Amino acid sequence: MRVGVPREIKNHEYRVGMTPMGVRELVEQGHQVQVELGAGVAAGFSDQAYEQAGAVLVDDPRSVFTWSDLIVKVKEPQPDECGWLSADQVLFAYLHLAAERHLTDALLACGCTAIAYETVQDLQGGLPLLAPMSEVAGRMAVQAGAHCLEKAQGGRGVLLGGVPGVSPGRVLIIGGGVVGENAACIALGMGARVVLLDKSIPRLKQLDERFNGALTTLYSTRENIEQQLEQADLVIGAVLLPGAAAPKLVTREMLDTMRAGAVLVDVAIDQGGCFESSHPTTHDDPVFELDGIVHYCVANMPGAVARTSTLALTNATLPYVEQLAQLGWRRALQEIPGFISGLNIHSGRVTCAGVAEAFALPM
Ligand code: NAD
Repeated sequence: MRVGVPREIKNHEYRVGMTPMGVRELVEQGHQVQVELGAGVAAGFSDQAYEQAGAVLVDDPRSVFTWSDLIVKVKEPQPDECGWLSADQVLFAYLHLAAERHLTDALLACGCTAIAYETVQDLQGGLPLLAPMSEVAGRMAVQAGAHCLEKAQGGRGVLLGGVPGVSPGRVLIIGGGVVGENAACIALGMGARVVLLDKSIPRLKQLDERFNGALTTLYSTRENIEQQLEQADLVIGAVLLPGAAAPKLVTREMLDTMRAGAVLVDVAIDQGGCFESSHPTTHDDPVFELDGIVHYCVANMPGAVARTSTLALTNATLPYVEQLAQLGWRRALQEIPGFISGLNIHSGRVTCAGVAEAFALPM
């Protein structure tokens, strides 16, 4: 099969859809791979490394698109790129179509088969191609929050780990899924006191066992949130209601009860945010201050650590890419459990319930 890896052109996107390691695997299995010149440079993968792995490097993005049977990308195709897609081609990338009517229409019009990373499921109903980015964002949330707590950043000047004779900082994590668990892991590792709230008792039990009592777990109620907010130095918002906007669990009034210079990191901002006072920010200008509280609300946190994120993402996507190339898309979708839920568009029709519902389109 002919597999194409274009350079990402979305603003501030530094990741790449395949590493040289992935190219090598495909080439050894007898496939041809074209990579656009410079595609991996921002993530630390040189053109030479791709060449050594067996890829053919191509200067013109259009020819990477039109030559390929399978196009492996990170983000959704931009308008120009949609114009280069055609029927008989398979696109494999993050698409988030339910929020993008224009993109949905463009992919329907070109007749391609579009498989979205974010809707692929595993046997347990988990989202294996979304999880690596949640792992990155959860771990980064503590790093970003610790930085914002520094006085020069507007924070209250607290070192999360404390020092001998001085109390450590207090971290409150709301939501104990993939983001919350990874945030807890790093915050505990830094020596902070960590409280985590979730609505799921089985999940709290799992986390309690995993952290062997080092983590304080609490059932998520308004009262528990209010009490914990008063003492927190860093609050990390990590809730998710699948397919819905994030619930506003921390209201604007609650900010008044918090310590001046405390920091809110709203990881759930990509679903609208779980703090009423949040609005999306960018890596160029990541924080704002409101009522004496520092807010960090970057919607694509993994983009800041493009190399780690690329490696984590492609570790998860490569087995699917290999099967798509080896078996063809129809058999691969049938044979890998849960992969079929990734199919969003085929031959001018929507094939994903969430996307169809979002735009009242037939399936
Ligand atoms: P997840 O499904 O693994 O976990 C969500 C958790 O929230 C679940 O354990 C659920 O029980 C809990 N929850 C639901 N309602 C709650 C409530 N009222 N109180 C407390 N907990 C509640 O999801 P995840 O992968 O951890 O992702 C969390 C959020 O982070 C999502 O919105 C995701 O889109 C977002 N995210 C953002 C970035 C970014 O760059 N900003 C990156 C990755 C993920």
